[in-house]
Amino acid sequence: ATTAQTPRFRSVLDRIVSFRPSRALPAQTVPACPLAANESPYGPPAAVLEAVRRAALSVNRYPDNGCAELIAGIAARHGVAEECVAVGCGSVGVAQMLLAAVAEPGDEVLYAWRSFEAYPILTRLSGATAVETPLDDGVHDLAAMADAITDRTRLIFVCNPNNPTGTVVAEDALRTFLDRVPADCLVVLDEAYREYVRDSGTPDGLELASGRPNVVVLRTFSKAYGLAALRVGFMVGHPLVAGAIRKAYLPFSVNSVAQAAAVAALGAERELMARVETTIGERERVGAALTAHGLTVPASEANFLWLPLGERAAAFGEHCVRAGALVRTFAGDGVRVSIGSPAENDALLAAAATFGH
Ligand code: PMP
Repeated sequence: ATTAQTPRFRSVLDRIVSFRPSRALPAQTVPACPLAANESPYGPPAAVLEAVRRAALSVNRYPDNGCAELIAGIAARHGVAEECVAVGCGSVGVAQMLLAAVAEPGDEVLYAWRSFEAYPILTRLSGATAVETPLDDGVHDLAAMADAITDRTRLIFVCNPNNPTGTVVAEDALRTFLDRVPADCLVVLDEAYREYVRDSGTPDGLELASGRPNVVVLRTFSKAYGLAALRVGFMVGHPLVAGAIRKAYLPFSVNSVAQAAAVAALGAERELMARVETTIGERERVGAALTAHGLTVPASEANFLWLPLGERAAAFGEHCVRAGALVRTFAGDGVRVSIGSPAENDALLAAAATFGH
């Protein structure tokens, strides 16, 4: 038998599962509207494009491994000390480093389910054991999560707003939960969609994390800042945690084009946040229209909507994809539709209008 066929080697490889299939799609007769990955529908503002172009002139050089300008920019933007910030290859990359820093085989990682699909995969890769508590009607059941904490729980993910349901946890509930978490267990508040939140009862993780050394906030440049392809995410938390992440950092994993683009995006924030407002307006329009088509659409605070279609999810998802609206189907559970440009959203609504007829 070749090495790849030996049971031990296979069991090593079997631990690894891919969470994002390749984007290659069958040829479409209708132009495809990409509403499956919660991206920004807008290309880079002129200043960001110019920064990318300038940085591209020096791609023969290694990037700044310390990401100094980017970390300074993030710290200034959020009013925190630079020593509280660490960056990584997307917020997924930062989450992986956090797990590497605190979780080992035998440890437990706790999160609600359904939630962001990277959590179970990153947990498996770290060798730790995943403990999942079901959502309560699409919302994190923080009391059940607190009850599920054991002396082996090392890290807890709270996705707020939650992907894929778009739901949020309330400030009181989250504070009560954090008070129940032991001091030696890290809580990761994943706020990838924070810029799309308009509900005033939703806590700002940065406020909760300040003064709580075991709480960190994850944010990203992939959504509201429109840089999904460049892979820049960051955490804000206690300097000890940020320092551990800097140690776990895969050298040069935020490249120089990405660093320059993220710095420029911070400078172009007014333009980017105006686009976020458009997306929020579209979220309300699409939600109302889908409701008018007879679908159940829970309120969302993110740049996507969740359609809890249960057994009809696969059929709805296939119907949309055939019509050129590429949505994300979770078979047997629901369909997540990203909010795109108005024209892309119209394509989705046209598909929804003919579903079941
Ligand atoms: N957290 C959540 C909840 C997400 O939905 C995503 C992207 N789908 C991420 C993190 C990862 O974003 P990135 O790695 O691009 O920063």
